[in-house]
Amino acid sequence: MDISYIINHLGEDRENYFNSVTPPIYQNVMYTFQNTSEMRERIQLESEIPFYTRGLNPTGDILRKKIAALEKAEDALVFASGVTAISAGVLANVQTGDHIICVQKPYAWTNRLMTEWLPRFGVEVSMVNGVDLENFQSVLQKNTKLIFSESPNSWTFEQQDLEAIANFAKENKLLTIVDNSFASPLYQNPIELGIDMVAHSATKYINGHSDALAGVLCGTKEMMQKVFKSEYMTLGGMLSPFHSWLLLRGLRTLPIRLKQVGETTTQIVSFLENHPKVLKVYYPFSNNEPQKELTKKQLKSPTGQFSIEIKANSIEEVETFCDTLQRFLLAVSWGGYESLVFPACILYQNEQETQSLPWNMVRFGIGLEEPEVLIKDLEQAFSQI
Ligand SMILES: *Cc1c(COP(=O)(O)O)cnc(C)c1O
Repeated sequence: MDISYIINHLGEDRENYFNSVTPPIYQNVMYTFQNTSEMRERIQLESEIPFYTRGLNPTGDILRKKIAALEKAEDALVFASGVTAISAGVLANVQTGDHIICVQKPYAWTNRLMTEWLPRFGVEVSMVNGVDLENFQSVLQKNTKLIFSESPNSWTFEQQDLEAIANFAKENKLLTIVDNSFASPLYQNPIELGIDMVAHSATKYINGHSDALAGVLCGTKEMMQKVFKSEYMTLGGMLSPFHSWLLLRGLRTLPIRLKQVGETTTQIVSFLENHPKVLKVYYPFSNNEPQKELTKKQLKSPTGQFSIEIKANSIEEVETFCDTLQRFLLAVSWGGYESLVFPACILYQNEQETQSLPWNMVRFGIGLEEPEVLIKDLEQAFSQI
């Protein structure tokens, strides 16, 4: 199936809604039945046919089909946020006494789930440097159930060899989940490499307009049924019909947005790599990337997130740089139409307070502006420090 067929047509039964080019928003909570026997039959099929909107909804089902096809998965579920999708995928597959291996420095709230939430319920988690498969192998226990990866990870964009992790997991009967938000379903498909489940913060590239929170989880039909019947229904974090519709709308332009973002980012990164006030660039497609081979193997094309370390003498200088930028907005998140910066130093009081990120680090999310406009803006901001 080609990508434009998936995005423009798959899952859309236009004849069922007056051949309207876009699907309706099924803004209903429940479905009515002709008689008790139909109702009895349909409650058994709650995980397959819309019955009550905390479960399935026809607008969401169109999105599910498209996302599953893009990720080369059998099935997908859509959630109210990326974090809900991640949490549901993990929680559905562990219980008290189990052990998880998770890549270190994942997205902040994945980290919170792994280091604080799960231990409260007696699930042990080992956080490992994901650059080397040996680090996963060396913490394997008898009770290990699951490996959680995020490749590339947040802020420092280190990759894990997903095929090697999938093989190691299969040998030891472990389940694997990958947060694939960085690459989008267009530029990396972990399921093709043997990974079991893929999660996305669809808030980022899939929606792409900074106006809707959403998450997706993909895997086999059996895995998605398991999640549906447990965490999906009990935690109730489904994507609303209106949000499903917004996501369908955002998805229509994903390929063209990513193409533009990738081209602009390549130019900006090359500008930054040669700038005297930049100490280091963290980006899988950077010329100096130590994991170049893995980039070639796993990532199809550049996207728009990277970090730099600024050659600054103080947090104050980093702040001056960020405050002087005019076209880049200061905000968390990424993946929208607008370019953003997020300085690590807002988490710190002074340069001595070292946490996991350097105080002079600034994370970028590139949007749809003209590259020369962004480069000019960076140029004038660097000239202030
Ligand atoms: C933003 C983000 C999430 C969380 O997604 P939400 O939609 O905000 O819940 C998870 N993983 C990564 C890599 C992210 O960047």
